[in-house]
Amino acid sequence: MRGQDTVYAVLLAAGAGARMGENKLALAFGGKTPLQLCYEAFLESQCPPERIVVAVSENTRAQALSLAEKDARVIVCTGGAARGASVLNALRALQKHGVEAGIATIHDAARCLVPPAVIDAAVCGAREHGCGVAAIPMRDTVRDAKGTLLPRETLFLMQTPQAFDFARILAAYEAAEAGGLQATDDCAVYAAAGYALHFTEGSIMNQKLTYRQDLPFFRAACGASLPRVGFGEDTHALVPGRKLVLGGVEIPHETGLLGHSDADALTHAVTDALLGAAALGDIGMHFPDTDARYRGISSLALLRETAALLRAHGFLPGNVDATVIAERPKLAPYIPAMREALAQALGVEAARIGVKATTSEKMNDEGAEKCITARAVCTLMCVE
Ligand code: MG
Repeated sequence: MRGQDTVYAVLLAAGAGARMGENKLALAFGGKTPLQLCYEAFLESQCPPERIVVAVSENTRAQALSLAEKDARVIVCTGGAARGASVLNALRALQKHGVEAGIATIHDAARCLVPPAVIDAAVCGAREHGCGVAAIPMRDTVRDAKGTLLPRETLFLMQTPQAFDFARILAAYEAAEAGGLQATDDCAVYAAAGYALHFTEGSIMNQKLTYRQDLPFFRAACGASLPRVGFGEDTHALVPGRKLVLGGVEIPHETGLLGHSDADALTHAVTDALLGAAALGDIGMHFPDTDARYRGISSLALLRETAALLRAHGFLPGNVDATVIAERPKLAPYIPAMREALAQALGVEAARIGVKATTSEKMNDEGAEKCITARAVCTLMCVE
């Protein structure tokens, strides 16, 4: 039932992201865009909105349309050249959908870490006082550019959401448009229409994604900067007439590993672990054995390419731990060289690469010297 208490959300996703230098709303944190994160926060709030209008630019239209496809409550409208024009377009879109009264909760999509409790507080403020503006007190000592101390206890940082009586904020924005008033937030427009402001509890987490240097904070808050773990395994047959190469090191032996490349099972297992940690598929997908380019190639070259691919996706190897299972030959003398070669291909220090060798006590195909198997785990760090 629609009424004075019904909540509507306006998500502003039409900003240019000029201070970021790229479309910040296209970035993903833990696999979700800022718009998706905001949408979820509103749905988790105590009074989920009956309608959610997303004001978009051409850069964000597709994202918003895909939300609208899955959720009939979502309306997509075109944003304006300035923030205020976007809000007015969104409020008018609500009006077109028959909204006359209720609470309009206006939020910048770039504040994608907004805790649902902050939305609840703003909505409660609007219900009780006509307006609820998320704000936080100043923590730091504040001075103006001339060095004059400002009275911190009287100052607040304005955040969003800012929630208002729908009819009042619509009329206030229409008056602002008519009078040419430009404002950086909604409560300025509301106050200019003669209404009193009421601040509600914001959150230090509710930061606005603005600069590139903000990215680590947002990634950490979304758990997107946690290390990622990968696992890889590979087996190749031991046959006469082939070289035995493990971890990029040629090892004198009467048999060698059979395969399209140099069949370096250890390097393949490490490569697969890294690709797996990044969820980028597997070695066969990137370096198919049907491709003549990889015939007889050193697998270290594939590992180097993999490291470049990881960097391009924002990952750096943390550490690698691998075990080779071979009955013969004894691998211990070659392990330092393997670690060095793998580390060099990955562009990290050898201290991050663990290589161990074991036998299978004459059991299984490894024990019968029919094959050699390698298993590897790794971590990847997310970097920017
Ligand atoms: Mg292989």
